[in-house]
Amino acid sequence: MDEELIIDEHEFSWSLSRESLFTFCPRAYFYHYYASTGGFEQFSEVEQLYQLKKLQPLDLWINSICSESLRDFFYENPENFNIHKVARRYFNQGARSISLREWRDDPQKLNLFECYYGLMEINELIEHASKLLEKSIENLIESGLLDYLREIPYLDRKNILFPVQTNIGKIKVWCSPVLVWQEDGLLKFLTLHSAASNKIKADYTAGLHKIYAFNDLRIKPERVVTLNFDLKNGETSALSDEGIKSGGLIDYVKDSTEKMLSLLTDHKSIVEDNFSQKSDNCMKCKFQKYCN
Ligand code: SF4
Repeated sequence: MDEELIIDEHEFSWSLSRESLFTFCPRAYFYHYYASTGGFEQFSEVEQLYQLKKLQPLDLWINSICSESLRDFFYENPENFNIHKVARRYFNQGARSISLREWRDDPQKLNLFECYYGLMEINELIEHASKLLEKSIENLIESGLLDYLREIPYLDRKNILFPVQTNIGKIKVWCSPVLVWQEDGLLKFLTLHSAASNKIKADYTAGLHKIYAFNDLRIKPERVVTLNFDLKNGETSALSDEGIKSGGLIDYVKDSTEKMLSLLTDHKSIVEDNFSQKSDNCMKCKFQKYCN
């Protein structure tokens, strides 16, 4: 693919996941954010790239089911809420869709990396995913987190549009907390990362929540707390942004944006060859079927 795509640099959207894909491999970043544009239309030339872009790993699917179930529990506040049942309903919808390979006709439908690349046979994958989900939901219940959240008065729950977006200068910055609420004069965010996530990412997540709270809700950084629940080990911990020097996160976002934009020819168009291939990550890459 050597055609040039014109983009508007003022619309640049930054997120930790975008930064992380760029670090993983600049060419994968190019496929995901630029080359697959328009691929959701049937018979588009880049339909395959778009299908690959939408691939997600099993862990992320389980995480998204838990996030959706928690949001239903927290914001809709139904009586006799049964998180097992709700999570199972999301799971069954996804499992059915994968079994029928609905992604072939509609790439927006669920498609898992492990299944697509034959790392696991489909029934084995669904059984494994089912156990992972059960364990995650049990951890949520046994940790007492649901009981704690149930006590938050309904009016203190911030029902905002997820993912949340704020601005650093002209850069749109996105982050994806699962829940947000007020408590004891503090604004609290909940995330669902695994303990294996790196410390820098945790620091930046906590810092981004502070920037969002300050810019959009006029809440001082010292009144913002980020809690993380680890679905695998069932532990809740507070994420601190202490690893980031004052102003460091804003500089980091600006530098990172500059790095990504510098690969655009004249900052206006984008060419595949400008994005180098990082071959050590190919086996973990969702674009391996397409990339030469
Ligand atoms: S297959 Fe390898 S070189 Fe190609 S995009 Fe993926 S990680 Fe980069």
